[in-house]
Amino acid sequence: MNILKRIRHYSEVQPERIAIQSGQEKLTYRELEQYSSRLAAYIERHYKNNRSAVAVYGHKDPYMLVCFLALVKSGRGYCPIDVSVPGERVDMILKCLDSEVCMALEPLDGTDKTLLSLEHIKVLVQTETEEIGEEHALKGDEVYYMIFTSGSTGVPKGVMITRDNLEHYLDWSVTLGTDEQHKQGRVFLNQAPFSFDLSVMDLYTCLACGGTLWTLDKETQQDYKLLYASLEQSGITVFVSTPSFAEVCMSDPVFCAQTLPNLQLFLFCGETLTNQTAKKLRKRFPEAVIVNTYGPTESTVAVTEVIVDDRMAEEVSPLPVGRAKPGTRFEIQDEDGKVLPDGEKGEIHILGNTVSAGYYKNPEGTEKAFYRTERDGQAVRGYHTGDEGYLLEGMLFYCGRMDLQIKLHGYRIEIEDIENNIVKLDGVRQAVVIPNIRKGTVKSLTAYVVTENPDLDLKEALGAYLPAYMIPKKFVLLDQIPMTNNGKADRKRLGG
Ligand code: AMP
Repeated sequence: MNILKRIRHYSEVQPERIAIQSGQEKLTYRELEQYSSRLAAYIERHYKNNRSAVAVYGHKDPYMLVCFLALVKSGRGYCPIDVSVPGERVDMILKCLDSEVCMALEPLDGTDKTLLSLEHIKVLVQTETEEIGEEHALKGDEVYYMIFTSGSTGVPKGVMITRDNLEHYLDWSVTLGTDEQHKQGRVFLNQAPFSFDLSVMDLYTCLACGGTLWTLDKETQQDYKLLYASLEQSGITVFVSTPSFAEVCMSDPVFCAQTLPNLQLFLFCGETLTNQTAKKLRKRFPEAVIVNTYGPTESTVAVTEVIVDDRMAEEVSPLPVGRAKPGTRFEIQDEDGKVLPDGEKGEIHILGNTVSAGYYKNPEGTEKAFYRTERDGQAVRGYHTGDEGYLLEGMLFYCGRMDLQIKLHGYRIEIEDIENNIVKLDGVRQAVVIPNIRKGTVKSLTAYVVTENPDLDLKEALGAYLPAYMIPKKFVLLDQIPMTNNGKADRKRLGG
């Protein structure tokens, strides 16, 4: 699909429809199209000689979207940076980018780049007389966006996603869970900051379907009253989030079909969707479709899909992460690169048309993680995920990070195996297990648990499911598992 063409089409057929709303701030399709075309003309005129990707710094502001599209229309990629990214990391990213300019929609200092502030941009889009449509836009093989993910070395890695990557992904994401027709003009929830690739799932799928993106800012997400008020006001139809965020929402019974009658579809990605979460959601929203998807930033948001119905939520444990989207295939490989047969665990390799071009200015990292190969006589790009999993007749099952596998007293243990068993216990909502490491060796395990049943002896109850060596030494009850800015369980803050 040509995403720019689609947006222009909606700006013609439904110009006054809200494209994006964040609190009181909103932009219609007409404004989005016009403002981004004007800003594109300004950028092209002033920074003609530099076509490198440009950072867009801010938090959920509708004008971030104007900047993204303006840059793409002017033939430049963009790099979203959320205000929650720590200052040092922002510096590192800005230094890495070769652009002269940075769109700073929130105050930003300590950089030698020319800053375009929100106020300035708002004036520009009203006063600029030229417009650039698609004639200068990025080509298919050029970098559309770049998202920096954490690197094991401590230096963030800029994952380059081309326009072709994104548009292949969108061809499929508009069909996720319901057909494209059902998504036309709906309200999509945006939970993740734009610097996290889960946001691409809601933002661009929404725009591709002429819908309204309803963003929840950080403040709203952290205050239950504000959160539920915003959800009720939104009229959301498509809920896109991590499973952890859905758990946060479910901590109040108000999060149910009676209060959110339009909610038809849940799209999950980014971490394990447990049977417990799926079952609870099915009870609260019996008519809604729940879709589990899986994928790293390096393969453009997600590459699998499975609908979790009542039967699956009850009977299939752990839940699968789904079947490959069109244009993608999986191989489960052992350490020597041998492709393993169905049912055997190994590293998940993703091959296909949404695999990233690599890491920005990082040939070594790119070479290590990505490769070119041939399958069925066709050249294809592959990516080593570092995730462990297995296939059963095309259905992919995820078993955890290869690096969350530990040895304790000589026993091989999957941390997520323990967590999945703890959440099976009566009343338990969430669990995170952290290995206690001394001098490089795992000495014991601590489980952090959110439960509605604090009187249950977790150690004893867990004995029914796990061998003694897998039972954590210590259990700590929490009101809430701390989350990263991206909405995943924050293992670091728990000492992991
Ligand atoms: P990110 O690049 O931040 O999206 O993180 C990608 C990693 O998140 C993957 O390599 C997996 O380890 C994990 N992940 C993504 N989707 C799922 C899922 N549906 N279930 C379990 N883990 C997932």
